[in-house]
Amino acid sequence: MNNDHREGGPRKVGQVKEITSLANPIIKDIKALTQKKSREETGTFIAEGLKLVIDALELGWTIRTLVYAKTAKSKPLVEQMAARTVASGGLVLEVNEKVLVSITRRDNPQMVVGVFDQRWKPLKDIRPRDGETWVALDRVRDPGNLGTIIRTCDAAGASGVILVGDATDPFSIETVRATMGSVFAVPVAKATQEEFLAWKKTVGVSVVATHLAGAVDYRTIDYKRKPVVLLMGNEQSGLPDALATQADALARIPQAGRADSLNLAVATAVMLFEARRHVLTLSETR
Ligand code: SAM
Repeated sequence: MNNDHREGGPRKVGQVKEITSLANPIIKDIKALTQKKSREETGTFIAEGLKLVIDALELGWTIRTLVYAKTAKSKPLVEQMAARTVASGGLVLEVNEKVLVSITRRDNPQMVVGVFDQRWKPLKDIRPRDGETWVALDRVRDPGNLGTIIRTCDAAGASGVILVGDATDPFSIETVRATMGSVFAVPVAKATQEEFLAWKKTVGVSVVATHLAGAVDYRTIDYKRKPVVLLMGNEQSGLPDALATQADALARIPQAGRADSLNLAVATAVMLFEARRHVLTLSETR
């Protein structure tokens, strides 16, 4: 990111800056994070909303920049987040609504936006234990689906998501929005198809793949015997044979009616809550 800006001279770590110009280089750098290239180059991403920023800081994520609307300045929680950002060496920007609109590309933008360091869980560090459920997504394309799945993993108590093959970015603004904050709670790993299959052989998991041609009713599978990886197919083409043939079970969710298939995020939710039925009870959860 650029370290200088025109309204107030060189950046000093920990300072609060007031910015009103859309041409300000720091604002331009933040806006660039809506592009994957900039997110990859900087290893950072944008999360919108005070709740998400609070969640992220509580979970120990590193904030680089906190942006808030001048009108939100006097809110105690905004003040607290600003103080925490400054204390951790981040930059705090006080901006007008026009600047927030341009960062988030929304007419009614959130009053608070945070720029955070990305976090990826290395695949080699994933060693699923008994009672754990992981979700592996083959070439997931839709940011809304990925965000919804991350949120659902959080709600179902799944341990994380493994992105297999060329996937949509979990740190895009659309995906992060759809996670409703769960992006900060659910570890995400990425792997090629080959890396995933090699990993599967070494970690002692049961891979339950879902397939429209699956012969097994998803409600008849024993999800307690081993840690489970639910393997879900691409939105358009489903699971390729190279993955489907390596699975321990090929499960299908019975359907009625005229729909060919369920939406990927819906199918993942159905599978997750079945696979975790034995650990989720009303008394032990919220
Ligand atoms: N045309 C694709 C196909 O032929 O597989 C449809 C893919 S579907 C939209 C996306 C993924 O959701 C599937 O690959 C599968 O993992 C899961 N899925 C959707 N409906 C399912 C069902 N009834 N049974 C099992 N898996 C399902």
